[in-house]
Amino acid sequence: MRIYGKKRALAKLNDFRRSGRFPHALLFLGAKGIGKHVIADHTAMMYMCESGGDVPCMRCNGCRRVAEHIHPDVVYPVPVIEEIFRKPSNSKSMVELVRDFIASCYIRPNDGDVRVIVFEKLDELSVQIQNTLLKFIEEPLDFNRYIFIAENRTPILQTVLSRVTAVDVDPADEADFSEAMAENGIDAARAHELFEMFAGNIGAAAEFDKNGDELIYLKGALAICDAIADGKEFECLQAFMTLKTRDDIFAALGIITDIFAQAAALKSGVSASGAYKKQSGHLSSSHSLAAITRLHDEAVRLYGMSFTNPNVKLFAAECCGSLFNAAEK
Ligand SMILES: [Zn+2]
Repeated sequence: MRIYGKKRALAKLNDFRRSGRFPHALLFLGAKGIGKHVIADHTAMMYMCESGGDVPCMRCNGCRRVAEHIHPDVVYPVPVIEEIFRKPSNSKSMVELVRDFIASCYIRPNDGDVRVIVFEKLDELSVQIQNTLLKFIEEPLDFNRYIFIAENRTPILQTVLSRVTAVDVDPADEADFSEAMAENGIDAARAHELFEMFAGNIGAAAEFDKNGDELIYLKGALAICDAIADGKEFECLQAFMTLKTRDDIFAALGIITDIFAQAAALKSGVSASGAYKKQSGHLSSSHSLAAITRLHDEAVRLYGMSFTNPNVKLFAAECCGSLFNAAEK
């Protein structure tokens, strides 16, 4: 397993190891597709590698089992708990299931000295579940280590944040990005185009390249944001008209909302990590913070309406008109 990009996160992990103070709870933050799970696997290997070196050898039994997600002492509770929770026969609440899981972690690990618990989607867990987890990480057992994964910091409780060491996972630079694309069979010219589009987000670019034609909503969303940044209402309308179903409009508005939020962050001097950097950068240089904020609020309102609106074409036209209104007011 070769890791492309993510140099700052890897350097931090190596610093922790070298200083002999490896945090017992880490939180990897970054956009979807950026490679948080790759870094989480790498970290789990740092614990489980049997070669005894400073970096995981990626060849021993421990490393291989981590890579295949079959190591008995590396557990991924969230997807498992969600699956149990979804079964209609299960009368337990999500919180009870999380408590059951925590209780199971008081038993010593199977194979070695440590158990690694990889908690995905920390930012999507309810306040109640986060509070349940808090007790768990506040009183750590010497054989448990925690790796949390989240896209956004905001929904995470301050009390939880104060107990974990957060590490931002950055997009790849163009050299690393191109190598990763080459490994996916993508040529240099296309890789450059994808780099511009996804600002070094390898996962998002690879998915787009594979399913691009199906991702009409993504293409539409990017074209809409470009047209708004350029003040071209007709192009914006054309882009909206490529969205043929309610689901497409819904998904596109979700992305557009993200891009507006990123543009507002950029405008306030916060560098946004993640995909769509081209569009958010474009908007932040063409529009004022007030206009971007109005655009964002309008996109959120339309996003909420997209569930209920019966006529897709009319609604698409309305979206275009009201976003332009918001931008120009
Ligand atoms: Zn190894």
